[in-house]
Order: sequence, then structure tokens, then C-alpha cells
Amino acid sequence: MCAERVNLLGLPRVQLEAFVADRLGAKPFRARQLMKWIYRRGVADFAAMTDLARDFRAALGEVAEVAVPEIVTEQRSADGTRKWLLRMDRVQGIETVYIPEPDRGTLCISSQVGCAMDCSFCSTAQQGFNRNLSVAEIVGQVWLAHRELAGPADGERVGSGRITNIVLMGMGEPLANYRNVVPAMNVFLDDLGYDLSRRRVTLSTSGLVPQIHKLAEECNVALAVSLHAPNDALRDELVPINRKHPIAELLAACWHYIERQNGRSVTFEYVMLDGINDGAEHARQLAQLMRGRPAKLNLIPFNPFPGTRYRRSSDTAILRFRDILNDHGVIATIRRTRGGDIDAACGQLAGRVDDRTVVRLGDRLGAPARAAAGVA
Ligand code: SAH
Repeated sequence: MCAERVNLLGLPRVQLEAFVADRLGAKPFRARQLMKWIYRRGVADFAAMTDLARDFRAALGEVAEVAVPEIVTEQRSADGTRKWLLRMDRVQGIETVYIPEPDRGTLCISSQVGCAMDCSFCSTAQQGFNRNLSVAEIVGQVWLAHRELAGPADGERVGSGRITNIVLMGMGEPLANYRNVVPAMNVFLDDLGYDLSRRRVTLSTSGLVPQIHKLAEECNVALAVSLHAPNDALRDELVPINRKHPIAELLAACWHYIERQNGRSVTFEYVMLDGINDGAEHARQLAQLMRGRPAKLNLIPFNPFPGTRYRRSSDTAILRFRDILNDHGVIATIRRTRGGDIDAACGQLAGRVDDRTVVRLGDRLGAPARAAAGVA
């Protein structure tokens, strides 16, 4: 049996250069040609890479592949938002969301199957943590969306169908999968990859302080932080990682990040929960934390999901909250909810493949037969 083929998707440029040199005796420019085919042109089939020598293509096919996740379903929102469910195994999936706007197209990608952070208002938290995504699975989401968006613009009413921004705001905590997320982001930034400027790639975290410090040294992307509360007592409840890394420590890491990266500002996400964190006193406390700092507040109206105990703040409460922040000299904007009709909005991603055939099969068979059939 031949050895497993190496998936080239997401391989950083230096590693790809080393791979073509060591395994195929090829010069580094072959790696650069490959990257252009894979990312710019969205081609996965070596045979179609016509400016590579036929022999080289054949040899490549023996030792390598470009393997992307499988799309299970696609949903389109009335507002043009598109959501893809990608299969990770028989029952689990991840979701990727494309949000077109007149001046940009944002792709929201996942970094883990499930999430371990256990934020009380997030739907992904309900399913617990399953596993980290590989570099290829993270980059694969962009590759697939790029391919789907390049297709005929049938039924697409808003936006150009181009990815101008990538946000790690889908399922999972990206900094808990640091090892795979950083190489993937480097492909997004690489001019032979997706060639995005560092301001157009945003990593959002619930507040893993040591990894924020590490990121400050190693990768130059925009930072968003899920704050959601202006004091530790409340944040301990909403974002449990706060018990380990309280607000003062988190904010110190954020200011250091901006200083180190020569960045503009950190975006703080703040979900608006009726009667929980949306009072005038909360806004004033928040303003104290942010005033004079390189910070922007992004207020997110809570998106409900089945079984949640929270309600969305009223429009009046959200506007009042924003105005108090603005009056204190803190920039605050309200995030418009997109894709709510297809459960594609913030915090609604669940990623259930729900393969009923397998479930039925598993139910009928006894445990040993299930194991033999490869059904967990
Ligand atoms: N784990 C990372 C990435 C998720 S980003 C993080 O916490 O930042 C998704 C954003 O949507 C986060 O700010 C998250 O707190 C927010 N969010 C989660 N559930 C939500 C919900 N039900 N309604 C609105 N926003 C939500």
C-alpha cells in the first residue's frame, strides 16, 4: 500500500517549498506556482494545472493531494447571507458563513468542532467540545467558499461574491487551537495565498490571555475580544474563562497587543442581553474601562436559539447603551443581525449533520455490529 498522500492545503510556503524539493527534487518556484493554482485559481486537481510539466504533475499526484471538506448543505438567507454546513465526521459538522455587504464580503469561519468555553449565551457551547480543526480544514473553508462564490451569480442579490475579509468568529475558540489557526491565518495573509491585509483578517477570542500575548509576538492580525460584561462578577457568569483570566488581566493583554502590533484598536464584542448586562450603569462601567484606550465597542443584539434562557435587549435599551458610551467618548456601533432566518447569525452556529441513516443503522445494530460497521 502506498504511503498516505500529503494534503497541500494550508501548507505554509516554506514547508511547501521544502516538500517539492525533498519529495520531487523540484525548485522553490514550483511551490509558488502550486500556491497560485490552489488559492488564486481555486484548483484542486493537479492535472488541471497546465503550466506545470506533465511529469511533475503525475509525480505530485503520487505523493500529494488537495483535500477539502465536503459540503453537506448550503442555505441562503433573504438578505444574501450564505451558510455552508461542512462534514467533519458522520454526525458532526462545522458551519461557515458568507456575509455580503455593498463594500465588502466577509467570510466567518470556524476553528473547532464545538467549543469548550461554555459561554452561557452561545449556541455552540451547548454541544460541548469535540475537536480542533486541522490547518487544512480551516483553510478549506475559505477555499470552498471562494469556489462557491465564483460560480454563477444565480439568485444572489447582494454583494459581489468576493471574500475581502475573513473573521474567525464561527464555531470554536480560535486561540484554543493556536497551533493550527496561526498557520492558516498566514495563508490568508500570504500574497500567494489569499493576499489579505492584516486589517482584513480578524481573530475573535473569549479571552485566552497567554495566547493573546503569544499572538502579539507571532501574527499580525486584527483582534476582537468577546467582553460581554463590564465587571468580573457578571463576566464570570457569562464567559466562564473570566474566572481564570479576569477583566483587568485581559485588558492589559489587549493594550499590549495593540502596542506590540502597532495596531489601530481592539474591537470588543458585547452581546446585548435583556435585563442582564444592558443597563445604564453597565454602559457607564464599560466606558470607564475603555475611555482613552485603543478600543471600539461592537454591540451585538442577542440571537436566540432553542432552549436559551436569555432574551434580546429592546432596541431602546441598545440605543441608550450606545449613546452612553458615545457620550463618554467611546466608539460604539451596533452590529446588524445578518442571516437570522437561516440560523447563521452570531452565536447560532450549531453544525449538526444529523445523518439519520447512520443513526438508524446504529440503533438497530448491537454494539459489536456497530463497531464493525464503524459507527461509534
Ligand atoms: N470563541 C470566540 C469566537 C466566537 S465569535 C469568541 O468568543 O470570541 C462569535 C461572537 O458571537 C462572539 O463575540 C460571541 O460571544 C458572540 N455570540 C455568541 N453567542 C451569541 C448569541 N447567541 N447572540 C449574539 N452573539 C453571540
